[in-house]
Amino acid sequence: MYAEEVAEMAGRIRDEDIALVRERTSIAEVISDTVTLKSAGGGNLKGLCPFHDEKSPSFNVSPARNVWYCFGCGAGGDAIKFLMDAEHLSFVESVERLAARAGIQLRYVEDDRSAPRPRPQQGQRQRLVAAHAAAVDFYRAQLSTAGARRAREFLAERGFDRAAAERYGCGFAPDAWDLLTKHLRQQGFTHDELVTAGLSRPSRSGSLIDRFRRRLLWPIRDLTGDVIGFGARKLFDDDDGPKYLNTPETPIYKKSHVLYGIDQAKREIAKQGKVVVVEGYTDVMACHLAGVPTAVATCGTAFGADHIGVLRRLLMDTDAVAGEIIFTFDGDAAGQKAALRAFEDDQRFVGRTFIAVSPDNMDPCELRLAKGDLAVRDLVARREPLVDFALRHVINRYDLDTVDGRVEAMRRAAPLVAKIKDREKRPEYVRKLAGDLGMEIEPVQRAVLAAANGQPAGGSTAPARPAPVTPSVDSPRSMVEREALKLALQEPVLAGPMFDAVEAAEYRHPVHVVVRAAIAAAGGAASAAGGAVWIEQVRDACEDLAGQALVGELAVEPLRIDGEPDPRYVSVTMAHLQWGSVTGRIKDLKSKIQRINPVSNKDEYFALFGELLSLEQHARALREQAAGGL
Ligand SMILES: [Zn+2]
Repeated sequence: MYAEEVAEMAGRIRDEDIALVRERTSIAEVISDTVTLKSAGGGNLKGLCPFHDEKSPSFNVSPARNVWYCFGCGAGGDAIKFLMDAEHLSFVESVERLAARAGIQLRYVEDDRSAPRPRPQQGQRQRLVAAHAAAVDFYRAQLSTAGARRAREFLAERGFDRAAAERYGCGFAPDAWDLLTKHLRQQGFTHDELVTAGLSRPSRSGSLIDRFRRRLLWPIRDLTGDVIGFGARKLFDDDDGPKYLNTPETPIYKKSHVLYGIDQAKREIAKQGKVVVVEGYTDVMACHLAGVPTAVATCGTAFGADHIGVLRRLLMDTDAVAGEIIFTFDGDAAGQKAALRAFEDDQRFVGRTFIAVSPDNMDPCELRLAKGDLAVRDLVARREPLVDFALRHVINRYDLDTVDGRVEAMRRAAPLVAKIKDREKRPEYVRKLAGDLGMEIEPVQRAVLAAANGQPAGGSTAPARPAPVTPSVDSPRSMVEREALKLALQEPVLAGPMFDAVEAAEYRHPVHVVVRAAIAAAGGAASAAGGAVWIEQVRDACEDLAGQALVGELAVEPLRIDGEPDPRYVSVTMAHLQWGSVTGRIKDLKSKIQRINPVSNKDEYFALFGELLSLEQHARALREQAAGGL
């Protein structure tokens, strides 16, 4: 999704149109939709900040300068940024919403730098969303008919009253072949639109019929609250379809991105810096009603990298590096497998990952029914780090009463500890693992170190890899530095200019610093023609032996990309590299701004603020660019 957004930012909406949207938008009106504003004197307005809890207003809006800024939490920006933060929209979505408000017809340009990808045509999305909105009304009305008795019972049996059903827009697909289809056709939706939306499908005879029949339905919404699909639960024994049926992939419904409940949960997720991932529609409802408003669920697919992307956008908004993601799983084997797979994904997720397993193997919906709201809140509160859960799961498979069992358990568990992103936590886990196994700390430490260096944990059947000169992939940061250096050495013609433009100060690993300096001393990557001569020049310019050895290694180590590197790959790598320092500069600037008196030092204040806005824009572009590629 991030790659798509970058492409959209770069090429979809014309710059003049974005500028026009900014110009024609009344920032005070946009913010007034969600924040009550009163006069602050000098033409400025103030209110209670929507991004942090406060009792006296420190959230300021300057209509004259078209900016808003909060002195309490440091959030600020223009109208587009406000919608992005408050409504959790992407840049493009925010511009589109403001354009619609101001009556501006946006013009889009094709982005020829990226491969064509299927995208909803202009206007099509609107039609498909409208068809879904009409379908929601239709299905909702059906829920109170006589034929929907089983659906109402199903909800009641799970502890959901009428108000709950209404809050989530639950509906019923009647026992008929084409009632919805005919209804929507009467409202002017075309045959093609209904098929494309996934609401109808052609029957064997060729006529158009409803996709869902005799099922309880949950409308599935995107971040902005638009209904983009349905989840349908089987109600009758003679229904030989699967228990759950979902909308198929459509131009607006991508199951790898969809999170049920995200529209209701997004504000709390951003505010609490925390998200609870449950397994089903009823679990989301049960959690929200029980006082866990951050719950969402995937729809008909496992939790994956794209879902992480969606959540990351919400969690990063809180400025908390350590957003929490909490998975709830049944305690059964399938749930454990899912949890372990999530551990693999965790490597790509900025936040910390936790797992909450109900002791009685009940899902949140069952738990709420059996033991009440408090039990659901307790389940989430009792979460444990996924690492702990995964370690326990691995160790439990071995007989720790035997030496062989303990050694084998150690070999299997060590790679998990080696994977822990937060390196400072590793010693703690080494001690814990040693304790759980009943072994000395030393051998466990050795096994973890070996695993961290990519070596098999003694005696494993995995093929041995040569030990690298430096433990190069000990952190994502080091990995990116290494990749940048590889590009400069292996592809100087392609990567040289971009590589040279990024300051040496961005490199942290001591040996990487040496190699970066050697490249500069050899005249810079942009000056090189490549090949063995270039590698020799850099090696000669190296000040120490470790650096020289690393140059030789990096010159031949494969890049972390399938196929040939392109300019995009170079820019993604360099974006990753700069991310840390840009966010650091933003932090410094924010604290500086907060120390300035905006009344007596107005000019300096707005100058710094302008600088902050452009840095944040840069950071956003870097983040989206970086997330798109590696
Ligand atoms: Zn604030």
